[in-house]
Amino acid sequence: KAKQQGRNNFQWYTSDLNQRVCEYASLRNDLQKAIETQTLQLHYQPQVDARTGRVVGLEALLRWEHPEKGFISPTVFVPVAEDSGQIIPLSLWVLDAACAQLRQLSDQGTTSISMAVNISPMHFHRGHFVQYVQATLEKHGLRGEQLELEITESLLLNNAEQAIETLHRLKALGVRIALDDFGTGFSSLSYLKRLPIDKIKIDRSFVQEIATDHNDAAITQGIISMAHHLSLTVVAEGVETESQMEFLKGSYCDVFQGYYFAKPMPFVELEAFLDLPASIRDRQS
Ligand code: C2E
Ligand code: MG
Ligand code: MG
Ligand code: MG
Repeated sequence: KAKQQGRNNFQWYTSDLNQRVCEYASLRNDLQKAIETQTLQLHYQPQVDARTGRVVGLEALLRWEHPEKGFISPTVFVPVAEDSGQIIPLSLWVLDAACAQLRQLSDQGTTSISMAVNISPMHFHRGHFVQYVQATLEKHGLRGEQLELEITESLLLNNAEQAIETLHRLKALGVRIALDDFGTGFSSLSYLKRLPIDKIKIDRSFVQEIATDHNDAAITQGIISMAHHLSLTVVAEGVETESQMEFLKGSYCDVFQGYYFAKPMPFVELEAFLDLPASIRDRQS
């Protein structure tokens, strides 16, 4: 009896596994079509200066509306693309599209707003990454200072020396570097002093509880203070409430990003949003 049950369990297990392999394969195929037909989209989330309330930056975020399955989160399909190698054509497209939109905003007079693009480690470590960034900036007539690349600590896992060297070459172009999801990775603080970065982004998981959890509040304040001593700018991710914003403001956080200010939005909505900077200032005072 037990044996039979065991076998049944095994069958369940394999069929479940088969199903997952099939789903994965179909997701990969559909993603391929989406890349080829350019049906993926970028949405843009504003980043707001804590003191002036002005929009100082935008983060470009991938969006995929699957023809049958509806919205699929980048936390689901980006790992698939990284695994299959599709992340390379995808990332090339993201950087080019984000820069094209930045050029358009720049032409509309918003020259002080920078664009942040998430960089996958595989893309970063690929040969000619720095040349591609440089060529893309030139293609769209942008200054390096207008572009920000968001990296994560996982970039340093395999070849830290080479990664640091690449970062220095990007910095030489004027490009800014932000360390994303800070505090969640294998944070080795010893790297922090060696990395040529400009910003750290405090992960949403810390920001979520700052107004209610004493430990998260202490960690967040510690990160901000340390970053400032290292002359780094601090961005808080996932600011959703007024009390979170007030706490961060009182802790001298420099930049806010989160639903409290704005959700990621398509470019057309962004144009309308940026015409109304006063409405953001009003919400803060
Ligand atoms: P991330 O780079 O840390 O991006 C921030 C995520 O937090 C975004 O999720 C954003 O929509 C979400 N977010 C912002 N404010 C709030 C808030 O107040 N509340 C909540 N609950 N969430 C907030 P999204 O767009 O789903 O992206 C998830 C992740 O997927 C990104 O995390 C990034 O790691 C990856 N990703 C997105 N676009 C790209 C891309 O173009 N290239 C690469 N390589 N990765 C990307
Ligand atoms: Mg990011
Ligand atoms: Mg992040
Ligand atoms: Mg994140």
